Amino acid sequence: MSQNKIIKIVVVMAIVLLGASGASALIWHWRSQPTIDMRKALETNDIVPLIIVGSGPAALSAGLYGARAKIKTVVIAGNERGGALTKTSYIENWPGRTKILGTDLMNDLQEQVQQFGVEIINDSVVKVDFNVWPFELTTENGKTLRALTVIIATGSTPRTLGIPGEKEYWGKGVTTCAVCDAPFHKDKEVIVIGGGDSAIEEAVQLASYAKKVTILVRGASMRAAASMQDRLHEYPSIEVKFNSQVRSVIGDGSQVTGAEVFDSKSDTLSTMPVSGVFLAIGHDPNSKLFKKFLKIDAEGTIAMSDRTQATSLKGIFAAGDVTDHRYRQAGVAAGDGIKAALDAVAFLQEHGFSTNIAAQLEKRYVSGVPEERAEIPLMKTVAEIKDIIDAAQGLVVIDFYAPHCPSCMRMLPAVEAVAHQFADQVAFLKVDTSISPEIAQEYHVPTIPCMLVFNEKQLVARYNQSMSRKQLEEFILKLLKDS
Ligand code: NDP
Repeated sequence: MSQNKIIKIVVVMAIVLLGASGASALIWHWRSQPTIDMRKALETNDIVPLIIVGSGPAALSAGLYGARAKIKTVVIAGNERGGALTKTSYIENWPGRTKILGTDLMNDLQEQVQQFGVEIINDSVVKVDFNVWPFELTTENGKTLRALTVIIATGSTPRTLGIPGEKEYWGKGVTTCAVCDAPFHKDKEVIVIGGGDSAIEEAVQLASYAKKVTILVRGASMRAAASMQDRLHEYPSIEVKFNSQVRSVIGDGSQVTGAEVFDSKSDTLSTMPVSGVFLAIGHDPNSKLFKKFLKIDAEGTIAMSDRTQATSLKGIFAAGDVTDHRYRQAGVAAGDGIKAALDAVAFLQEHGFSTNIAAQLEKRYVSGVPEERAEIPLMKTVAEIKDIIDAAQGLVVIDFYAPHCPSCMRMLPAVEAVAHQFADQVAFLKVDTSISPEIAQEYHVPTIPCMLVFNEKQLVARYNQSMSRKQLEEFILKLLKDS
């Protein structure tokens, strides 16, 4: 009998005996569960007892508990280091703190876990193999790490609308990060799309700069918490328009100039002249990498087993927004992370992990060598930049950033590393737009992070999005090839 036939018979028998849900659990288990034998852990280098993928509150709280259990814990931070909280402003619902900036909270958490000895790697997981044990994780920079147990805390990604003009003007007025771009809309009119807590957060951020902020809600009411909606009364420049859907984003080729808005109540289409379109329409869980190996539900979240943080695969745990389409609160994510770490520690103990094995793995762990970085000169005037561009023999790359822009700050170490790598061929400069806004104005930079590249005094490239170390390296290599 062929293997396929045997599989079909087993599936039919399982459904008959266990019912549909029991059978599906059994099939998941049987399909990909590798054998766990602690002796195998001592055969190869670079095996870490606990690897955590992600760097938001779920990931770092898990890290804290892993390290406190005296288990070597490595966090692979990903390209959105610090997670979604670094893109909000003040948080007023973190237990024990009346008010704290999202970035401050994440910096405090990071400092705390590092004090306990957690290693944080600035790299992103691009591939996993959970059919083998120790589990294998490959990073964007080409490193392969093996883990006895893994906690997935990859969070979620802001949704986009898929309407005409959205892609074309992304980073040129269309964005999801008011914290980053609000200062570029000083005395201008902007719209925020969405009716949840995030839409209110974004609008409040923008209200300090923009002349007028209109929140466009597609339905007849907002779903944001009542306490958040109350905040709007303090901002006369914020208006909420219901039954309003953006149909397209309009621009002049280089920047957003307006949006076409459909009013479903009056059945009319009108154009709003705005300089910014801020999306706050919810998030999708970052579970794609794992769908081959784990049970994922219809919303894309990783399915949890009972009240634990166990996934459908033994040894793999998950926590935070990637598992949660219901609560989606930083405090809940942190609690999930703690539970996931306790589950992971129990898993290791059940499978014979000991201090002796821990010591042997530690000896065979070849930790990442810290990357060399260049000191990038900070430009303060347009004249200074012009002199350098005029005198340059090769490429000049200018990184526009600001300390209040989390994705810019995450990108800075990668820029410094690439600047070191190409020190002989490319001159890197940086501009802090919060201290030199006139430079951003001179070079028409409407959003940060932004990179401008000059060759022989001419602007040859402009890049308006956050880049990983690898993407940046490829970007520079291509420019060098074309120059
Ligand atoms: P939500 O899922 O809560 O809200 C998304 C909003 O976008 C809804 O109003 C939805 O409309 C609207 N929307 C979805 N798709 C479209 C579309 N295609 N066109 C127009 N509008 C659309 O997401 P949030 O990011 O606001 O919040 C996520 C979670 O994070 C929540 O649990 C929230 O409480 C939490 N959060 C908490 C904060 C705080 O406490 N300070 C701050 C920010 C977020 P509809 O209502 O019609 O479905």
